[in-house]
Amino acid sequence: MGDQANKQIILKNYVNGFPTESDMKVRNVAIELKLPEGSTGVLVKNLYLSCDPYMRNRMSDVKGSYVPSFTPGSVITGYGVATVIDSGRADLRKDDLVWGVTGWEEYSLIAAAETLTKIQHTEDIPLSYYTGILALPGLTAYVGFYNICSPKKGDTVFISAASGAVGQLVGQYAKSFGCYVVGSAGSDEKVNLLKNKFGFDDGFNYKEEHDLDAALKRYFPNGIDIYFEQVGGKMLDAVLTNMRLNGRIAVCGMISQYNLEESEGVHNLLKLVHKRIEMRGFLVFDYYHMYPKYLETILSQLRDGSIVYVEDIEEGLENAPKALIGLFHSRNVGKQVVVVARE
Ligand code: NAP
Repeated sequence: MGDQANKQIILKNYVNGFPTESDMKVRNVAIELKLPEGSTGVLVKNLYLSCDPYMRNRMSDVKGSYVPSFTPGSVITGYGVATVIDSGRADLRKDDLVWGVTGWEEYSLIAAAETLTKIQHTEDIPLSYYTGILALPGLTAYVGFYNICSPKKGDTVFISAASGAVGQLVGQYAKSFGCYVVGSAGSDEKVNLLKNKFGFDDGFNYKEEHDLDAALKRYFPNGIDIYFEQVGGKMLDAVLTNMRLNGRIAVCGMISQYNLEESEGVHNLLKLVHKRIEMRGFLVFDYYHMYPKYLETILSQLRDGSIVYVEDIEEGLENAPKALIGLFHSRNVGKQVVVVARE
């Protein structure tokens, strides 16, 4: 096979503040669709790309982070679904479907191909789900709720960024566990989804609440047992004053802080002492070993309809920067996916 045109998304420069489309650019290069002799890598055609909030961290020049920064002038990398064109890995063959770390480009030569997981695809499950519910966001929700929150039947649960890739699942898990579940999200459309699609008991649009403390008291007159933290900042402060005795806070993320030059302070941490609250951060990467069990469980729940999933699909690799930036402006409704190609 000869050279093939390969469209790529490049990070132009490190980002300060909110990322913009002009921090990234589209570049066209040529790629030979054949692995170099003796390569142990995998050559793939990318199908679906995942837009994830942690990618913002990689757009800054930070040292010592749990994931390395991107390199300006190089292709952005992230999780995605792809089809194998040529493989130096014994367990992967041409036409196999995989998910794992790939490039934001049409074709990728993945030298370090150990994150690629083979997909046993069946037509009843959307392939794009391997960017979300069947990949790390799904595992995050599962581990975060069952392992970190220590839930008990009847607990009152509050979830921020509740309609997103992770939050929509946490809410469904908590409901099926027998908890009372309320979520916050940034639009009435999303709140409607929480209540009418994901089965939350209630939800509110935090952008329309000028007093978050009062809003939480309205939905949790007797306090919150579990807070699934995804936004940080003012929401965390308001939640801290509304936690119950022996409450648990699972710190999954703090997206409201990712674009700030300096993090906002948290003022009500003393509540942790007075209320004997356990607040624990976690990273999904530490729970990768649980993926096979998780996958088996979630596939059967998707098939029997006990769990549902909403995606926000952006068509075209060239629109990937817009989709990624949208995460920080509440634009995505559900898991943000970019379609590079459908087959
Ligand atoms: P997502 O919820 O699908 O998308 C991000 C959402 O965050 C936006 O749609 C927006 O929804 C909300 N948001 C953006 N800026 C905000 C702000 N300033 N204040 C409040 N809300 C804001 O993303 P996701 O993939 O499910 O990730 C959710 C959180 O989990 C993030 O903090 C992410 O970093 C974290 N995470 C952690 C792990 C881990 O291993 N610990 C793994 C995956 C994700 P609204 O409409 O609600 O504003």
